Amino acid sequence: MISSLHRPTVAKIDLEAITANIEAVKAHIPADKKTYAVVKANAYGHGAVEVAKRVVDLVAGFCVSNVDEALELRQHGITKEILILGVVMPEELDLVIANDLTIAVASLDWVHAALKETIAFKKLHVHIKVDSGMGRIGFRNLDETNQAMRLLRDAGVEIDGIFTHFATADEADDGKFNQQLAFFKDFLAGLEQVPALVHASNSATSLWHSQTIFNAVRLGIVCYGLNPSGTELALPYPLKPALQLESALVHVKKLEAGQDVGYGATYTSQEEQIIGTLPIGYADGWTRDMQGFSVLVEGQLCPIVGRVSMDQITIRLPKAYPLGTPVVLIGNSGAASISATDVASYRGTINYEVLCLLSDRIPRQYGE
Ligand SMILES: *Cc1c(COP(=O)(O)O)cnc(C)c1O
Repeated sequence: MISSLHRPTVAKIDLEAITANIEAVKAHIPADKKTYAVVKANAYGHGAVEVAKRVVDLVAGFCVSNVDEALELRQHGITKEILILGVVMPEELDLVIANDLTIAVASLDWVHAALKETIAFKKLHVHIKVDSGMGRIGFRNLDETNQAMRLLRDAGVEIDGIFTHFATADEADDGKFNQQLAFFKDFLAGLEQVPALVHASNSATSLWHSQTIFNAVRLGIVCYGLNPSGTELALPYPLKPALQLESALVHVKKLEAGQDVGYGATYTSQEEQIIGTLPIGYADGWTRDMQGFSVLVEGQLCPIVGRVSMDQITIRLPKAYPLGTPVVLIGNSGAASISATDVASYRGTINYEVLCLLSDRIPRQYGE
């Protein structure tokens, strides 16, 4: 898919903000902890290659969700450790080894399947994934884990690490968090051999449970300057959002009273008004449920009226602005701002999803 470069819709990415956010977190956790930047899903929409290149000297390595995301980084010259967090199909292990990737091992069944492959197991690096209560992937049974680790070691596999993932580290109630933590600690205590690297901290855990970091953190959303809890918990220190979504007025008109706007004619002007059109729509990830939300023109909130179409939205303007007037959908305009978290709240989702849904059609522009 080609980005649409010849229209005024763009996501401006502040790489300096990403650097500053990682430095801020590192300054608040013990210096001996290893830092992974999580750049899955195209670095949460910010551009995995550009982000990885920019922060490569600040981190020990990167986390991605699948083989292809890892290959993209390797193909762009990233040589540091890359840990694949999801389950890799055993038949892809030759690719994993050829590209010096590290993978999560999440079940005994997977180990049995993987050991049937004819590959150079001595070159395979893994981290064991423990399901301490997230319920997605990972070992839940200690005997199976010890057995799997024995089988892997016998085959010559390097077991570099072991990790788990918290389901509720971004919530005010820490009951479930503490249960998962206790489960993971018991699990470690029951292992025949504990790998050198032990990690459990995503962004939320690094921010609000920094006393429970084992020896590495996996930083995702904080790198991009957003609060993992949305609005539930206050950030313990400031972060800077790194993405600004902008477009511009490509059409401005005066509507008489009683005129309809958009598919379904869901909006009818009650009096004479000025309507502007922006070249962004649900195919860009600006979803249909954004109807009724606002965008910023010269620091003023202007409501999105009528349906969000695939490629365009219509907004009500306080006055006639010239064509080309910039419009901010996420970010700062004058003294006003709209955050990805604001968008998420309106849409009934989380800021992560708002960022990840921004499609490849929107060009990413890099600056500081
Ligand atoms: C995505 C992910 C992370 C990063 O999560 P954030 O909340 O963005 O910090 C860390 N660990 C695992 C296993 C993940 O899947």
